[in-house]
Amino acid sequence: MTNETLTMTLDELASEASGCTACRLSQGRTQVVFGVGNPGADLMFVGEGPGYHEDKQGEPFVGAAGQLLTRMLGDIGLAREDVYIANVVKCRPPGNRDPLPDEIEACKPWLDGQIRNIDPRVIVTLGNFATRFMLDRQVSISRVRGQRFDVNGRTVVPTFHPAAILHGGGESSAQFQALRSDFLAVRAIMDEPRPVEPEEQLGLF
Ligand code: URA
Repeated sequence: MTNETLTMTLDELASEASGCTACRLSQGRTQVVFGVGNPGADLMFVGEGPGYHEDKQGEPFVGAAGQLLTRMLGDIGLAREDVYIANVVKCRPPGNRDPLPDEIEACKPWLDGQIRNIDPRVIVTLGNFATRFMLDRQVSISRVRGQRFDVNGRTVVPTFHPAAILHGGGESSAQFQALRSDFLAVRAIMDEPRPVEPEEQLGLF
């Protein structure tokens, strides 16, 4: 599968992923939750995996955590349609348990393919699993959140998973303040002048 996905468009990836049986999560899903949003987005969000509502509706971040994400986006002047939203695993883990390493590995070609096609300038990772996937290290979100990492020429900004706020201290918590400040940092990065591509410098566009 990995080699074939390397040349697929986003639509081809979505169609191929919809029948994926590469790991045990396929057995319990209602449907594959591939991703949603602007396929040409400069900004992409990566979460952990679909929950109950996402599994039913086929769209990432539509439950309570998704509503918080949508609100945080609105606070920095963005709508869900402006960005692209995906998860590390595309099928709901039973009972919303953490995805297992072999499940993350089996699902990797889909997220790799999404990133390759969308080609976002900035990726915000929500929580530990997405952050470890993008940084390829066993970091802890509370240590790295709000920092900027260069990964293959893209800027990766880890922040807390919105569900961690909802299950933790809520809006009065330090975590929520950190989430807000990380979103403001993302807004500032998006407002920075975009580096000029070599082709543009040559006047090819
Ligand atoms: N949590 C996630 O990580 N992703 C979703 O799509 C929903 C909740």
